[in-house]
Amino acid sequence: MTISELLAVLFPHLTCLQIDGVCRSGRSVRIWARTVSTQAACSRCGPVSQRGRSSYERRVCDSAVGGQETVLHLRVRRFRCGNDDCAATTFAEQVPGLTVRYGRYSVPLRTLLQAIDGRSRPLACVDLGPAGPRAHSVGDR
Ligand SMILES: [Zn+2]
Repeated sequence: MTISELLAVLFPHLTCLQIDGVCRSGRSVRIWARTVSTQAACSRCGPVSQRGRSSYERRVCDSAVGGQETVLHLRVRRFRCGNDDCAATTFAEQVPGLTVRYGRYSVPLRTLLQAIDGRSRPLACVDLGPAGPRAHSVGDR
C-alpha cells in the first residue's frame, strides 16, 4: 500500500482536496487544505457557476486523528450566482461529504457526535483558536 492509498483509506473525505500542510499545534492536528474545483452549485437555487470571485479560509473541526483534535484550515472559493432571481448574490462552495453551509464541524464528525449522544447539533469540541499566521480571511483567485 502506498502512502496515497493509506491516506485515502484513513481520510476518504479529504481526497478531493489539495493538502498544503499538516502540523501539530498543542493538542491539535492542523491541516491546511484547499479545494481544486473551478465551479460550484449555488446552495440556494442549484445552478452551477464558474464565476469565482474570491476565496477565504474557514476552520472546520474534523474527526480525531490518533486521539488528537483535528482542525481543517480549509480554503474555499466564493462564487457569484448567475440566476438573477436568486436571493444569493454570492455563495461559498461546499465540499461534498465534508462541509455544510455555515457548519463548523465536518460531516464525519457531525455524524459521529450525533451517533454518540443523539443530538441534532454537536457540542463544541475543539477550540479553533485565534487566527494563525497562515489564516488569511480573504484572497482573490
Ligand atoms: Zn443561486
